[in-house]
Amino acid sequence: MTAEIVVAGERPQALATALSQLDAAAGRLHLDEGIHQMLRHCKRELVVHFPVQMDDGTTRVFEGFRVQHNLSRGPAKGGLRYHLNVCLDEVRALAMWMTWKSAVVNLPYGGAKGGVVVEPRSLSETELENLTRRYATEISIIIGPDEDIPAPDMGTDGRIMAWIMDTISMHRGHTVTGVVTGKPVSVGGTLGRAEATGRGLQYVVEEVAKQFGVTLEGATVAVQGFGNVGSVAALLLTRAGAKVVAVSDSSSGLYNGRGLGIEALTALAGDHAPMARASGGDHISNEELLALPVDFLIPSALEGQLTGENAAAVQARYVVEGANGPTTPDADAVFGERGITVIPDILANAGGVIVSYFEWVQDLQAYFWEEGEVNERLHRVITRAYKDVARMAEEQSVTMREAAMLLGVSRVVEATKIRGIYP
Ligand code: NAD
Repeated sequence: MTAEIVVAGERPQALATALSQLDAAAGRLHLDEGIHQMLRHCKRELVVHFPVQMDDGTTRVFEGFRVQHNLSRGPAKGGLRYHLNVCLDEVRALAMWMTWKSAVVNLPYGGAKGGVVVEPRSLSETELENLTRRYATEISIIIGPDEDIPAPDMGTDGRIMAWIMDTISMHRGHTVTGVVTGKPVSVGGTLGRAEATGRGLQYVVEEVAKQFGVTLEGATVAVQGFGNVGSVAALLLTRAGAKVVAVSDSSSGLYNGRGLGIEALTALAGDHAPMARASGGDHISNEELLALPVDFLIPSALEGQLTGENAAAVQARYVVEGANGPTTPDADAVFGERGITVIPDILANAGGVIVSYFEWVQDLQAYFWEEGEVNERLHRVITRAYKDVARMAEEQSVTMREAAMLLGVSRVVEATKIRGIYP
């Protein structure tokens, strides 16, 4: 047995961003200080350390988390991240954003998030399955269809969700499909979930175009991150007539002013960070991508990408947040001064949780829908939320982020007040 343990590094910036957004909303809503403090803290935080048998016979110990921020409106919901930078503060921030996101799009969920400090691509298939099953076992004390329902996030996918569903089902002695979403369709997943976040982004970009009188046909788009969210958004926006001129992943960016061949690039997306080897454009850095003169910039990788340092260089007219927390409060302030409209994560990337909710509903009823119905309902829910937020922004003379926070926080506060403080 080796003594090596993979633990989290310090990345407090996401939490600072999430708290600053909450504090601003609390001030505008004149929130009672007790409720404000309750919302600044996560209700439950589970930290686990667990051993995994590696292929070479050694045992490695990993660190994982599952954090439930708030349960006032229903069971907790939120993704699982496998990434070397995962840490408790990052998971807290992501759980908090899930609470507001579910409330903004009016789903009966609270917010949660989880993760393991690991580079999943460094593991074999067997090691990844062992890690997932043991992590699922460690957090099984707080997850379940009525309690807390994980889903994919960075570094996790449908295969990992299937292992979690199977692990919990083995513990309980019967199949429990509703314990996770984002599963393959053959084991209780829903049609349309894999593309849901990217499709939701497409619908949101269409609403922005309508609201601000932008013609989507030929509008230029740059997408940072080419994973589940970014690659689908790029593909669907291309099909909707937009011109995706730049995409990137952790290895490189690719730029072509005449538009990139997104279908061909998507075929490479299964490989780890394929952009460094991709052709069809000039290789650019991620910083250069963020500063391109495009209509829509869609950050779809990590948090904290648009900061006080680089916001002045951004030339996009609209920033539509595919990632969670890609814009720091300093960058938001610069965008506000420069008239750049930001469509916040808790609205723009809510397609994933909306279709996860549809999957959970279908699992509970054991009755599955056609893909067209899933997409149609997604369109209805996300465009209604967009209009609610746009109306709030107009009425209160605030930014779209501030409006989304006012809507999300006020819905959670209302549920908290109606339920009362136990005992
Ligand atoms: P993913 O693991 O499928 O893809 C992440 C992509 O980002 C990869 O292409 C990776 O190479 C790239 N990347 C990583 N570091 C980068 C860097 N420093 N610069 C540029 N690119 C980088 O993850 P995903 O599921 O697409 O999630 C991306 C973001 O979207 C995360 O913030 C996640 O929380 C958020 N999100 C995901 C979903 C979902 O349904 N998967 C839903 C809502 C929000």
